[in-house]
Amino acid sequence: MSAIASDYDVVVVGGGAAGLNGALMLARMRRSVLVVDAGRPRNAPAEAVHGLFARDGTPPAELLARGRAEVEGYGGQILIRQELWKGFFGWIAYTVSRSERKDHPDDPWRVFQYDQTHILTIIGSYKFGRGYQVGIRFRYVTGNPYTPTVGSYYDVNSDAYVPINGPLYSARLGSFNQLDVRFDKKWTFQRWAMSMYIDIQNIYRASNPEGYAYNFDFSQRSAIAGLPFLPVLGIRGDF
Ligand SMILES: Cc1cc2nc3c(=O)[nH]c(=O)nc-3n(C[C@H](O)[C@H](O)[C@H](O)COP(=O)(O)OP(=O)(O)OC[C@H]3O[C@@H](n4cnc5c(N)ncnc54)[C@H](O)[C@@H]3O)c2cc1C
Repeated sequence: MSAIASDYDVVVVGGGAAGLNGALMLARMRRSVLVVDAGRPRNAPAEAVHGLFARDGTPPAELLARGRAEVEGYGGQILIRQELWKGFFGWIAYTVSRSERKDHPDDPWRVFQYDQTHILTIIGSYKFGRGYQVGIRFRYVTGNPYTPTVGSYYDVNSDAYVPINGPLYSARLGSFNQLDVRFDKKWTFQRWAMSMYIDIQNIYRASNPEGYAYNFDFSQRSAIAGLPFLPVLGIRGDF
């Protein structure tokens, strides 16, 4: 489960007025768009934007916030990379969306099976120098909708209990949250570089539900948890 997908139709580098406007047009054309922005618009020191039709006097930060909201409203994603102070970099990506579906013209709207209303990813890394680096990644995602089992009946022909389902996708799993921490050490040689890392996933052992398992007559259930605490040791060579 991740906020940032592995591929997009378009990645826009630079989320100022120009980048956001381009991203907005593309997102409106139903292209999947990611805007990557370093968060340093050149007019940041200005008090207000002047000479912009219908937005004269708007502070630059407000103009960009409006632009980002418009892009996200069409499904575009924004990733802001910020150098907070020397050696420290952070990224925050947040998406809010709501997917609904109507199965039949006469049916009411219902939440879509894969709706994930809030998706938040926070990434931070700090370079100590001499090839040492520490990084963290925090993720929060709204739990997926599921159809609850509200009871069961005994089927004599199959000699088994059959579940009775509640309204379609009317319940939600608990939210997903996970913190990963990674330590890297890199050695740079003349012709190649080697790095060793330890990547500790789910460091505070969050128990993230991925579904439910039921007993024989569906009267009891237990949550199926996702990835537990997982340390991974790795070595990598770059030539
Ligand atoms: C002090 C000042 C006042 C101004 N006032 C006005 C005004 O009143 N009216 C007006 O029309 N114009 C004004 N301008 C001009 C205004 O800055 C531009 O019209 C507008 O900001 C240009 O938008 P842009 O998207 O092209 O660039 P920018 O606003 O500079 O945005 C570029 C974005 O791309 C990011 N970026 C760059 N390289 C990378 C990278 N490799 N990876 C990720 N992100 C990257 C930057 O961090 C930045 O956020 C002013 C300019 C300055 C300097």
